[in-house]
Amino acid sequence: MIDVRTAGAKGLGVFAKKLIPRGTRIFSERPLLTIHGHDASTLYPAVKLLNTKDRDAFMALSSFRDRELDLMRWSVVLVHTAQNTISSLLHALLGRRGFALLNNRNSLKDHVEALSIFRSNAFNIGPKLGTSLFPRIARINHSCLPNAQGNFHEPLGKFNVHATRDIQADEEVSLNYLLETGALRHVRVDKLSRGYGFDCACPACDMSGKRGMKGEERRVAMHEVLKAFIERPMAGDISDKEAEMETMKAFIELYESEGIAGKELSNLYLKAADISFGMQNLKGALVYAAQAARLDRDTFGEDHPDYRKSLEIVNTFKTVGHKSRTV
Ligand SMILES: [Zn+2]
Repeated sequence: MIDVRTAGAKGLGVFAKKLIPRGTRIFSERPLLTIHGHDASTLYPAVKLLNTKDRDAFMALSSFRDRELDLMRWSVVLVHTAQNTISSLLHALLGRRGFALLNNRNSLKDHVEALSIFRSNAFNIGPKLGTSLFPRIARINHSCLPNAQGNFHEPLGKFNVHATRDIQADEEVSLNYLLETGALRHVRVDKLSRGYGFDCACPACDMSGKRGMKGEERRVAMHEVLKAFIERPMAGDISDKEAEMETMKAFIELYESEGIAGKELSNLYLKAADISFGMQNLKGALVYAAQAARLDRDTFGEDHPDYRKSLEIVNTFKTVGHKSRTV
């Protein structure tokens, strides 16, 4: 279904070999390495335990280092390799294994490299589960207008990536590395540059074309709507709900006109369902909840607990609707 090949300035990328329809599970991968909490000290020993093939796959991933983080990592690394350094220094001084020192210096370098790679490629899969690296999925590049989304399937113990829209043959598969899908260009570019070390040139960030300009105008307009809603004095009546609904609709429209699907959009639909329900518009609530469930099916797959949850919401609205009709 996919191919890993060069993606220009981005290095390697993942490409569709043929049309990948929306909702397709493109990847389903077990973690190669996981760190729980902030305990980075467990990483290097875990890397060393990998078999040669897995370790090579890991070390071949790209990494981005910035000075500040690098210094931090070096200090973490030093603590955990100090023991080895001392023993090999002793060996060296005693003349028994003079080369050990050099070896150790290499392992220190490897250790920093391993942490950089991990940080540049790992996904946070939840507070309980930690941060994990999936070497095949790590090859997927970023786009602010992604055509795929990843999520962890806890019962399967796998990270799945689904197509959130149809991906044409030869088109690059992309994920959004940022949480802020609706953010303005300068915010996204800055975060990507500081966090990952690249200048985003996706269609939303490319201001030389109509596509980028139009999208940015839409985002600015959406921020105005949001600002107006936040600053609006609460009237304490139905008009508050109506205003909230209009804001939600503006967000939904932005996402849809930009072609962004996935969990963010389904959350907006769920919120719209909730507001409709609050306004006693059961029919509207059901329509929005069904949209959310459709998006969740495409993003998570039918076997995912989150999809089942949104189906349950749809069914609840149906039951309530049925009861209110029969009363
Ligand atoms: Zn971008």
